[in-house]
Amino acid sequence: MTRAAVYLPDGYGASEGRAGPGRLGEVELDVLEVGSAQVVMREATVRDERDGTLFTGGSGELVFDPSGGGGPWAGAAAERAARAFGVVNTAFHAQRALRYVSRLLGHPLPHLLIRIGMHEQSRPWCGGHYRLPGQGVGADPDATSPAGEVHMGGGAGFVARPGAGRYFRVPTHNPAIICHEAGHHVCRHTADFRLNKLRSHGRHTNKKTALDEGTADVITAILLGTPDIYGWHRHDVPVAEQRRRRLDSRWTMAHFQGGPGSDPHADGTVWASACWSARRRVAETGADPVRFDTLLLLGMETIGRDHPADLCTDALRERRHFSRLMAAMAQADPSLAPHVLAAMAEHGIHLGVSNNDLSRAARTGPTRLVDA
Ligand SMILES: [Zn+2]
Repeated sequence: MTRAAVYLPDGYGASEGRAGPGRLGEVELDVLEVGSAQVVMREATVRDERDGTLFTGGSGELVFDPSGGGGPWAGAAAERAARAFGVVNTAFHAQRALRYVSRLLGHPLPHLLIRIGMHEQSRPWCGGHYRLPGQGVGADPDATSPAGEVHMGGGAGFVARPGAGRYFRVPTHNPAIICHEAGHHVCRHTADFRLNKLRSHGRHTNKKTALDEGTADVITAILLGTPDIYGWHRHDVPVAEQRRRRLDSRWTMAHFQGGPGSDPHADGTVWASACWSARRRVAETGADPVRFDTLLLLGMETIGRDHPADLCTDALRERRHFSRLMAAMAQADPSLAPHVLAAMAEHGIHLGVSNNDLSRAARTGPTRLVDA
């Protein structure tokens, strides 16, 4: 165990005026090996791909000052400390996410590689994405790991915090971005919404569906204990806008766009919001909300196991349907199923109906539901 400084999840999304994206604290990190710019753990390897040594191994501790996110104007020492903090913070949240999921599934997931400072040549980047290697849709020539890898930018721009100064917008400091990308790894190795297991390594697709984006947001909310997962860096986006991606806003299938021109993140808010309502409903019955987390993951695993022999359009289309995953979740915990189905019905999600038909019904039907 190694002492490490990280941003702890404590429902920070709702708190105003905080200087950083979490409460700074110290944890014991279970590390196998520390390299000059990487941390290796059983669950994941986190590596800063840019030049320079971040860890000298002197003290044996991984305690660094977040330095307001660092950045090109911060000075060399502050930028180095911020980068080192970013690797450690990413390692902590990735390990925490993957351990939680593995415990509920009853088995580990494939090792996740997380690479920081990617795609810097083309643009300064403050986001992250999950990538599989291959020439399919969304091909990323930098992706190398067949089990999947997360790329994170080196940061760009600033988060302005009223009364708390500005913070360089660096994704490795932000637990929400780390958890969301780890969530895609969970999706890939359970539900496998795009049937990548049936594709050869050269033909993996990186295109995400609304169900993939929404589920990654649900996993993030579970891990951070807040529905306002992006509240820190998107505090200036009104909560009534889908791009804030708050899960307690009551997005329904009436807000679902679908089709090739739609944004899967925005459409995913409907699924994420419905899951959050269902999780709350489960808690209101007196049950441990972990039971919801378990039925979600077991449902994902069930639909991932049930796949056709060959890749076909119908199978891919079915895997986009919210109702299909909802049915598998209900089967995973029959005693909670009525509560889960009732909560999701309030968002316009019903068993056995395609996303487009649910959307049409929610827009035109007599039971048009509460808007955000
Ligand atoms: Zn995503």
